[in-house]
Amino acid sequence: MSKTGLSAVLFDRKDHKNKWELEELPLPETENDGILIRVQATGICGSDLHVWRGDGKKPEDPKEEPKTLGHEMMGTVYKMGKNIKFDSLRNPLKEGDRVIFPYFFPCMSCYNCIRGEFGACKFRSRKTYQEWKYCNSGFSQYYYLKPPHFIFHAPEDLSNNSLVALNCALAQVIEVFNVAKIDFGDNVVIQGAGGLGIYATSVAREMGANKVIVIDGQKPRLELAKKCGASDTIDINEISLPEERINLVKELTDSIGADSVIELVGFPSVLEEGIKMCRMRGKYLEVGSITLNNMINIDANYLVTNQIRFLSFQHYDPWVIPNAVKFLQRTKNKYPLNNLISHQFPLEDINKAFQKSDWTSKNQNSEITRAIINP
Ligand SMILES: [Zn+2]
Ligand SMILES: [Zn+2]
Repeated sequence: MSKTGLSAVLFDRKDHKNKWELEELPLPETENDGILIRVQATGICGSDLHVWRGDGKKPEDPKEEPKTLGHEMMGTVYKMGKNIKFDSLRNPLKEGDRVIFPYFFPCMSCYNCIRGEFGACKFRSRKTYQEWKYCNSGFSQYYYLKPPHFIFHAPEDLSNNSLVALNCALAQVIEVFNVAKIDFGDNVVIQGAGGLGIYATSVAREMGANKVIVIDGQKPRLELAKKCGASDTIDINEISLPEERINLVKELTDSIGADSVIELVGFPSVLEEGIKMCRMRGKYLEVGSITLNNMINIDANYLVTNQIRFLSFQHYDPWVIPNAVKFLQRTKNKYPLNNLISHQFPLEDINKAFQKSDWTSKNQNSEITRAIINP
């Protein structure tokens, strides 16, 4: 067994234009209740791109310490602690098994954990590169599941690539719609047709939505949204004014407005528009604002008089993972959700992979949504 592995480490340069460098780091020692994963595939998530680009940072902000990233991952069991016999559904587990797992670890002894809100444990963060210089991240060859952790078998009929984005994008939108409740016949608006938006479209459709209206500025993404369950799409280049888009949503919903609007763009300018697409007592579901300084300026009186339910989300509970797997299995002949990956790169080419992903996320003619690293 190897003693070291390669990790990609992100260095913040003076202008906050970040650069990856590869480092050979020791493997974490596997405790009796721990599991060391050999990472097989990790997706480049929109949130990774935000950090890499330094979004929200001002030139005068201090330089950040080097860090590791990567969370949309799957892998195989490389080494198991001697107390580990089963996965989290009590199926036998052995070295070499393909697995999928949440990448954060609840503490099990805090206010949120005792209520079963594992995704909201304040102490759930993994150790950072600065605290613990081991080979241990999504953009690394190994990832350590320290106890307590959750782990599930990956089914044979789903490829590594289709499982990658499950562990973030898909799991996140399932959590959102489960907590916020999409009721049968609801009209849902999805702001942004990136990875999360495409999954949100199919999940809302499968939960019994009536209209699923998807808004984006890239035609190929909107085409993909149609194949994934959208009833209507709005291209912001064709309908360029927010008021016109709000009116169109009203028109499409019999002048009522949407029961739920989910924000998956990550820029604050879309919030006001999205809130105004909600019906009276509609729900606004905020997910995308993950970078610093995403300031919004909304008249609280509008929220009150329209009784807008504003709910925010980050992370998900462990039960979502096996249910997301089943969702992908049962819809695999219905929606093209299992081939949302356009590019694969070895870890050595991680700088190229990020540049390519950044370019595709801004390019009008690119369909995709996700590039992956095979460490
Ligand atoms: Zn992510
Ligand atoms: Zn906790």
